[in-house]
Amino acid sequence: MKFVNLDRQYARLKSDIRDRIDVVLDHGQYIMGPEVQELEQRLSEYTAGTHCVAVSSGTDALLIALMALDIGPGDEVITSPFSFIATAEAICLLGATPVYVDIDESTYNIDANCIEAAISHRTKAIVPVSLYGQCADMDAINGIAEEYSLIVIEDAAQSFGARYKDRPSGSLSPVATTSFYPSKPLGGYGDGGACFTTQSDLADKIRKIRVHGQNKQYIHSTLGVNGRLDSLQAAVLLAKCNIFSEDLKKRQLAASYYTECLTSARFEGVPHLESYSESAFAQYTVRVKNRDQIKATLHNSGIPTMVFYPVPLHRQQAVANPESVCPISEKVAGQVLSLPICPYITRQEQDFVIDCFLKANET
Ligand SMILES: *Cc1c(COP(=O)(O)O)cnc(C)c1O
Repeated sequence: MKFVNLDRQYARLKSDIRDRIDVVLDHGQYIMGPEVQELEQRLSEYTAGTHCVAVSSGTDALLIALMALDIGPGDEVITSPFSFIATAEAICLLGATPVYVDIDESTYNIDANCIEAAISHRTKAIVPVSLYGQCADMDAINGIAEEYSLIVIEDAAQSFGARYKDRPSGSLSPVATTSFYPSKPLGGYGDGGACFTTQSDLADKIRKIRVHGQNKQYIHSTLGVNGRLDSLQAAVLLAKCNIFSEDLKKRQLAASYYTECLTSARFEGVPHLESYSESAFAQYTVRVKNRDQIKATLHNSGIPTMVFYPVPLHRQQAVANPESVCPISEKVAGQVLSLPICPYITRQEQDFVIDCFLKANET
């Protein structure tokens, strides 16, 4: 069994993907070809018409968004300690300081109730992460940000397709970013990502930073990066867009099946969804006490599992902030275990995982 089975989706889309790739190979516009703009339009439809700028990865999307907001040395950015390194890395690369606010113990997302206490005169932005596919409590976060004139950037790398109070992830704050890393809910065949913004002037700035801060060819007014998405990658993603909604439903059904079966076996560590949430279920993550043992037992039965993430960011040497105190993140980081999930996982596979998991959890 694979942790994320990408082969089955490819088998289904093989001819569409190959046709799309052939078009690029024929027109030869490998850089910023027409597919990139077509993809941006398509993605903007998923995010309630928000401006979309396709970029080279989810990490670059964060970096470019922060650059467009002029975040740099001396600035503080409030974020979640329970995320992939990229969230904090982008902040640190620009010379700003990540200030970690502990997570809510049931959603694993930043605890909005604790944000206010972390705001200082240096705070510029809040970067909530919509972890495992469930949106952070964006209305509460936006409310605080408005009060203190801070900008909010949703790290929606895992939540593309998710909904919060029936509004799509990516459209919930002035700026959002996502990733098209192959195993993400909308994954390409390589690196890719996107920035979303509700503000057209910011979209222009992000576009400019994507190509070396270029105003027109070889004229540069600000610093930028090479942050473009390849036409070939856009072509692959366009083929996948046609089945994205359907895949998302299947992913959600697979998650519900796990939850239903595990709950009826009286297992209490299933993911908690807020009533306002429709998760994209990038991961199906449970909480257990004897994780190492369960992981090893499942591995021996041929079931791969993952730990996202074993060390919280405030404890990672590269992006540490010793002043941030996050006991809940530390506790949760020691207990989470992600089970295999993808739109194409079968009931039989899930039954096998559930059976092995429950047995391992009992012993
Ligand atoms: C995957 C991920 C990223 C980075 O995306 P890449 O495309 O791999 O650069 C950033 N933040 C979170 C929360 C992620 O899961």
